Amino acid sequence: MSYVGLRSIAREQELQRGLLIQGIGRSLGFEIDGIEQRLEEAEKHTAREFLFSRRVLPPSNPEKVNTPDPWIERVFVFDAFLNLQIPPPFAAERLERDASPLRESLRQRRIDQVRQLELKGDFGAAVSSCQQILTEHLSLRSKVVLNTYLARSAAALGNRLLARRAYDAIIRADSTLLISQPIPYAAFAWFEVVDDLLNQGRASDALQKTTQFYRCLLDFYYHLSSSQYDYFSRKLHSLTKSFERTIDPGGEARTTLISLEERERLLANTLRQAEEIRSWLRTQGGVLYVRNPPTGIIHHSLPVGERTLPISLISIDDPPGPRHWVVLVVLPEEVQREFVLPGLQSGDLADGFDITLRRDSSQRASQTELASFTMNKTSVLFPSSVISVSARQTTTVEILGVQTSLLSIGFGVLVVGIVLLGILIIYRDIRREEELSSMKSEFISNVSHELKTPIAAIRMLADNLRQSRVPEEARKMEYYHLISKESARLSHLIENILDFARIEEKRKAYHLERCDVSSLVSETVRQFTSLMEEKSQRIEMTLEEPLPEVLADPEALALALFNLLDNAAKYSEKESQINVRVLRNDGFLCIEVEDHGVGIPKKDQARIFEKFYRVQRDAGKRIPGSGIGLTLIKEIAEAHNGRVELKSDTGAGSTFRLMLPTGG
Ligand code: ADP
Repeated sequence: MSYVGLRSIAREQELQRGLLIQGIGRSLGFEIDGIEQRLEEAEKHTAREFLFSRRVLPPSNPEKVNTPDPWIERVFVFDAFLNLQIPPPFAAERLERDASPLRESLRQRRIDQVRQLELKGDFGAAVSSCQQILTEHLSLRSKVVLNTYLARSAAALGNRLLARRAYDAIIRADSTLLISQPIPYAAFAWFEVVDDLLNQGRASDALQKTTQFYRCLLDFYYHLSSSQYDYFSRKLHSLTKSFERTIDPGGEARTTLISLEERERLLANTLRQAEEIRSWLRTQGGVLYVRNPPTGIIHHSLPVGERTLPISLISIDDPPGPRHWVVLVVLPEEVQREFVLPGLQSGDLADGFDITLRRDSSQRASQTELASFTMNKTSVLFPSSVISVSARQTTTVEILGVQTSLLSIGFGVLVVGIVLLGILIIYRDIRREEELSSMKSEFISNVSHELKTPIAAIRMLADNLRQSRVPEEARKMEYYHLISKESARLSHLIENILDFARIEEKRKAYHLERCDVSSLVSETVRQFTSLMEEKSQRIEMTLEEPLPEVLADPEALALALFNLLDNAAKYSEKESQINVRVLRNDGFLCIEVEDHGVGIPKKDQARIFEKFYRVQRDAGKRIPGSGIGLTLIKEIAEAHNGRVELKSDTGAGSTFRLMLPTGG
């Protein structure tokens, strides 16, 4: 039983907990939706701002993206054809320079002639031609190309100073390595200048020029093709290596070099990421163009080398520009700090629960954790962290928890109680059944005995008379009297049993009539006295006058009184006194029978009106009886809208009061 109780407590607690978690899940779901909406709006805003500002501003330090948002690590922009735009990619390799516009064709021819002079080895003519054309108004390309020819021819002539001036002029003119296709003249010029300085033994100036070029290469890598970039990067590295012995390890030049190397690694890394993102975008083509998500944002976790990039892909197709794809590489922890945590902690749930972020979902949950959840749409950005909801001590949850368990315990106790009560009732019913069946068999044996005794007496008396064994007339008369008395007792007994059977089967019909109770009582007492044994109890009768008539079934009433008198006689000593009183009391007419006999124990007083119930007294006394007399009396009283009252003390006697309503 306690198992059943405990199980029901556990079930109930489980149910309560389930409902609580379900409720938390639902509220949290709404809060997460709100947070994700705010995050996506911020992402869109940043993407748009970034795109529009970058369109007008020339990209400086393009490998390092500066957005004001601390939760964004890097931004990539692709055009509608998924070509990388930001950071700018390497230039396409071109073998031929662009066809020159017509108006330049004459000058172009003159420049080509200089080239021919140089190839022929006529350096003097080449130098003077170059110097002459360079005084004219030239395009950047022409200026760069002519200065290159000038520098090479001057060097061939041994005019180091002139050559150096020409290289310096190239570097000045094309400080962004713009003229790189098909030949990056300016990049070569840088190396020539460094060489010149080294030849002059000006190592620190050479190092300074080297770092300047390093910076220029990183700033404007996108004017070079990737193979050009690789070539100059390698050349730079071997150069810086050669400086290692001369550089002061703690000096400024050293730190500058280190930071440039770091920038170079970052650039390589960024461009590699861009390439990976681009291939992923290509595989997403269908999703991007056909099933564009309603918010225009796709969250994804992209593995790149050792890392996994948490990215948000945003489609910007607002006018004025064509469609662009902006990819934000986010910093998950910063996003959580900036959006998720403040969102959760300002939500409704935070009033009653402790909401925290568990970075490592494999970590053991705290004991107070009720449940853990993940984000809805953006969970891919934080694949290993979960939102943990715990019961807060001394909060409503705790109280709720206590209430819940109190409720559960209460419920469990109730269940145990009900089960126990049920078992008790069943047990009592079984006991009653057993008791009743034993009382029934006792009743049968008692009734048989009660029937047998008068029949045997009658038979014996009749036999004696028949065989003329009683000669004297007086004795004969006595025998006749006894036979009549015994048969009256017998018929009374049978009457009792028949009435009881009728009542049990609900067949008993009462014939109510106006009855004079005084005469009915007197007559019944007289009949009863006539059947009493010689020298038995004295019956004292008191009739209060005048008594009102009552509506009653006289036969039933007489039977009830007869039974009361019979009991009073049976359960008291011989020659004791029995008082019969008829009186009015509070709207009732009362027929009271008082004896001074054995009395009835208190514990039995409530049960003696039950059918077949008899007080278990000293077995030796063997008072005959059937256990249905008082049941009949009670039934008759109730059929007359009355009742039976009892006052009794063991050893002091009993008073039964049959109360009938007078009707006014
Ligand atoms: P019974 O035929 O046994 O008398 P009743 O229904 O008349 O059956 O009475 C039930 C029981 O009540 C009796 O067995 C007896 O123990 C007790 N009882 C009834 N009337 C009296 C009384 N006047 N004095 C003492 N005990 C009584």
